Amino acid sequence: MPKDKAGWVLRGGFCRPRVLERKAGAVIAVTSRVLGDMKKNAVLGRALKKLGLRARGWAAGEQVHGKAVRWLARPTAPRRIPSTDAFATKTPGLALCVRIADCAPVFLVDPAARVGAAVHAGWRGADRKILTRAVRLLVKRGARAQRLLAAVGPHIQSCCYEVGPDVARRFPGAAHRKEGAWHLSLAKALAREAQAAGLKPANISAARYCTGHDHRFYSFRREKTKRRQVAIFALIS
Ligand SMILES: [Zn+2]
Repeated sequence: MPKDKAGWVLRGGFCRPRVLERKAGAVIAVTSRVLGDMKKNAVLGRALKKLGLRARGWAAGEQVHGKAVRWLARPTAPRRIPSTDAFATKTPGLALCVRIADCAPVFLVDPAARVGAAVHAGWRGADRKILTRAVRLLVKRGARAQRLLAAVGPHIQSCCYEVGPDVARRFPGAAHRKEGAWHLSLAKALAREAQAAGLKPANISAARYCTGHDHRFYSFRREKTKRRQVAIFALIS
């Protein structure tokens, strides 16, 4: 399990990796339940304003647990791009948004090249190697894999994430058995993928917050909710 080197803290409704934000020169945040359902554009706009970003400065996708990563230079608001689970940019102030309720948000940033990405990764996205594709796109746009910092945000951790043997089998080394059931660590699976994509192990970290049992977050597994948190990434101008 990668450590939380990013320094995630939940305060004022936002879960933010304080150490990483300083290093990256970026606003990075995941909302919690108290800020409301981020599928609603007005609610999302209010959250962005609280972070000092523009209410309509967001870009988002209709997420399908796929592997598509899009490079963006301007907001897509109020529309979402079809079938897209990850975005990358070098445009300061553009808020890349992915919605989550148990799936893992992954942030990638190269502080020197000033490029970054927000990725939505559940087990299907991890299985389809969406993180690897995001790394490749950033490298194509000037990042160096060796310099990239990767942070996995709050998600359903292995304590709460029971999966079938068919899923566990896809992630050797990231799943374990507990009381006769398989449990998957998405953070471990994603950290392995990031390392295989060329990132330094020291530059990979994961938040400890578990949406599965921490009621301050929406959890699809726990409450079958249609409501969502949002994970936000924006380079500071
Ligand atoms: Zn848990």
